[in-house]
Amino acid sequence: MVSYVVYGRGSFNQLDEILAPQRKGEAPMIFLVDHFFEGKELPERVPLRGKDKIIFADVTYEPKTKQVDALSQQLKNEFGTVSGIIGIGGGSVMDLAKAVSLMMTNPGSSADYQGWDLVKVAGVYKAGIPTLSGTGAEVSRTTVLTGPTRKLGMNSDFTPFDQIVLDPELTANAPINQRFYTGMDCYIHCIESLQGTYINEFSRSYGEKALQLCQQIFLEKNSWDADSDDKLMMASYAGGMSIAYSQVGVAHAVSYGLSYLLGTKHGVGNCIVMNHLEQYYPDGVKEFKAMVEKNGVEIPAGICKGLTDEQFDTMINVSMGMKPLWENALGKDWEKKMTREKLRVLYEKL
Ligand code: NAD
Ligand code: ZN
Repeated sequence: MVSYVVYGRGSFNQLDEILAPQRKGEAPMIFLVDHFFEGKELPERVPLRGKDKIIFADVTYEPKTKQVDALSQQLKNEFGTVSGIIGIGGGSVMDLAKAVSLMMTNPGSSADYQGWDLVKVAGVYKAGIPTLSGTGAEVSRTTVLTGPTRKLGMNSDFTPFDQIVLDPELTANAPINQRFYTGMDCYIHCIESLQGTYINEFSRSYGEKALQLCQQIFLEKNSWDADSDDKLMMASYAGGMSIAYSQVGVAHAVSYGLSYLLGTKHGVGNCIVMNHLEQYYPDGVKEFKAMVEKNGVEIPAGICKGLTDEQFDTMINVSMGMKPLWENALGKDWEKKMTREKLRVLYEKL
């Protein structure tokens, strides 16, 4: 779990105080900031001291192991060691920050650690500050990376942030579509966690609260306001806590294949898949479609048109590799229920 959590409008202003006890001599704090904020006001509010540095992270594509390795190597060359890595951005930047922190102390390439509990050494101090709400990356024990052979997280007890600062003001004015897709990531986390076989009371408690907040935001309200930002930030947190002790399910397992082959981004990819999962989550899909309609958002279709057999196989391989997700969704005998042929039919519908 994340050890320290600050929540509230304007809490970003406490960052200097929060970081002060974490500084180790001259070693700088490195602020990885979402490139969306380059030239905007937010970087001017970052409390730089001494050799501290802001690095704008290009998240046009989701984080790659190569990008993590290059960034951590660059920091080692420039500073030797750093006091901490602070990720300020959406899920992509937060994942990048977590991974770079781990690679400051662990040998080899981040690709060596894609899997479960392969990281053996704590990273440098790391803090996460979301500017989009929904992924739960601020609380999760994973950092999702696309590597040479797979899209898979560095899942470990060393992966969660040491500190998060949840300031809903930072998410104001995110583009409507982006906010919806990332918000739906949270909604889908709830459905997959609550309907999964791994569910327990811990996950259910958080999942139900997050689901209720999503319903208020995306179904009950008629327009977006500051209260929606406040609520979605807590929904993201609670949804992330829910899957931390359970797992995601079919939408994520299938969406990983799309993003590995086609580079489809996580939030929209999940939506594209969720649109076709009536068989697995009938109530969830019905409600999801109502949310799409109410918010007037377009979910892309036909993205797998014209793909070759080889390309379908690649997606199926990536998806079938997500064993814990399938087991959570369909039970221990999931391999009897989800075959390569069935998965192919599903991908063809997308
Ligand atoms: P994102 O971080 O990929 O950002 C999407 C776009 O929004 C980018 O162009 C970014 O520059 C922009 N953006 C960010 N903040 C903004 C703001 N306040 N206003 C305007 N634009 C802004 O999107 P995301 O949906 O938050 O994150 C998706 C990523 O999170 C994927 O890489 C996915 O793999 C990862 N993820 C991780 C976990 C985890 O547990 N670690 C869980 C789910 C998803
Ligand atoms: Zn997700």
